[in-house]
Order: sequence, then C-alpha cells, then structure tokens
Amino acid sequence: MHVHLAWLGGCHLQRRLFSLILLSSLVWPALLDARDLKPGWNLFSKEQDVQLGKEAAAQVRQQMPIVKDAGINDYIRKIGRRLASQPQAGDFPYSFEVVADESINAFALPGGPAFVHTGLILAAENEAQLAGVLAHEIAHVALRHGTNQVSKANAVQIPAMILSGVLGRGGSMMDQLTQLGIGIGANSVMMKFSRSAERDADLLGTRIMSSAGYNPIEMARFFEKLEAEGGSRGPEFLSSHPNPGNRVKAVQAEIQTLPRRQYTTDTGDLARIQSSVSKIRVKPARTTPAGSTPSRSRQRSR
Ligand SMILES: [Zn+2]
Repeated sequence: MHVHLAWLGGCHLQRRLFSLILLSSLVWPALLDARDLKPGWNLFSKEQDVQLGKEAAAQVRQQMPIVKDAGINDYIRKIGRRLASQPQAGDFPYSFEVVADESINAFALPGGPAFVHTGLILAAENEAQLAGVLAHEIAHVALRHGTNQVSKANAVQIPAMILSGVLGRGGSMMDQLTQLGIGIGANSVMMKFSRSAERDADLLGTRIMSSAGYNPIEMARFFEKLEAEGGSRGPEFLSSHPNPGNRVKAVQAEIQTLPRRQYTTDTGDLARIQSSVSKIRVKPARTTPAGSTPSRSRQRSR
C-alpha cells in the first residue's frame, strides 16, 4: 500500500483522500469494482460442462479438418495459455486448435475446447486482435454461456431428465441431450449467443486481455472491422456472436475500471504464422443455405 502512497509525494490532502478510497475499497470492493461478471442460472454442473465439451470436441475433430502444423499450433496455444492462465478464466481445462476453413470464425465449447478457423487468423491485423477473439471465447466458457442458454431453453425437459436419472449416468451426455433435440455441436443453437451474453463476454474478455498484457481495445476494433467489411451477410463469427452495440465504447469504459498498465504493441510472430497459414489447403467457405453465394473471404488471393 505504501508503494502507491509514495507515488503521491507529499500532498497531504491527496494522500488522505487516497487512503480513504483505499480503505473504502477494502470495505466495499463491489462499489468501486467494475460490474461483477458471474455465470448465470444453470442446470448443469461445471463438471458436466467439461464432459459435454469433451464429447462435442471429439465430434468437431471428426467433422472438421484440424490443422496439424506444429508451428501454427504452438503459436495459437501459446496465446491461448497466456490468456487462460489469468484468474478470470476460471479453472477449466482449456485447449486451442486450428480448423482449416477460410471462413472468419472461432468458437469455444462448454468447459474449454476452443477452435479458431484459419480464415480468422488471416484476417487479424496483429496478435492482440487474435488474442481478443480467444479472450472473448474464453469468457464464454468461464461464464458458462453455452449451458446457461440450453438450461434456459429447456428448463422443463432437463430437470425431468435429471430426476429420472438419465442425464450423466454413464454413456454420452451429448447423445442424451440429442434425444431431447438439444444440439451442442459447433453449429448448434447452443453456440449462438444472445446480445447480453456477447456484452458480458466482451467485458470479461477485456479483463482477461488486460491481465495478460494485451491491449483490449484491439478486440473491439477487430470485431468492428469484421462488421464493417462484412456487408449485409457478415463473417460467420458475427452470426454466432452478434454485436451487442457500441463495442469499442463499452470496452473503453471497461478499461477505465481496470488498473492502468502498459500494453505491448508487439505483433509477435503473427506475420510469419499467417504466411504458414496461407499455404494450408483449406476447406472452401460454406455457401449460404440457398447454396449459391460464396463467402466474401473466398475472394482472398492466396
Ligand atoms: Zn461471443
């Protein structure tokens, strides 16, 4: 404490004020702290989040082309671990993998498995933007948005399953949920978040980035860039992560509530990694359900 007071020099009034603020922050931390971000109502346990995520990730690995390039994987894991080791990320078993798909997308499954498309890596302008997407995904996991949304949408069916002892008693949780018509795969309803979930993921993502030393404003800038470039359709990322509105302003306001810190402007190895990524043969971007319009990202010259 005295380290901070020394910074104020000899000004008694300021010192007294500062002590008062410090004291009150010890007594009422919630008043001075930013909004408390906690997981919402949920019928699943944290362990069930992890179990569901494991099963869904195994399915993703079967259905999507996972990148095996060690250089690319190490790079993404390094950024991911730096973020996931922050206290706000909770103690979920996070993992980070890359999908060879040129659409601009990323998603995280309940309990920790996160996937980034090669198209998103190519679209990032600096490492902080890539870290921003990962921090945002980590925030969805930590706030348990996936199972929270499924709980709310199936408030009657799930308790019935739990009561009947079906759920979680051996076998695949995913199969049991599928029988109820609850999909939890990468493109399922569970992974399309509400605007309020998006706002909270932005705020917690901001805190995670800041703790890890990345400038959180890059997360908001990247999302806004995607929005501006996307036209009416927009990149896939925005269809499952709708803009809660005023992203940059909200992130700026959140930064004001955090301890001041110097963020590095280091772009890391992104350019080198992007060059490796651009050499990967990727699955063409998905077409619209009508089956005709290719994604904008497909026009990227490689
Ligand atoms: Zn999101």
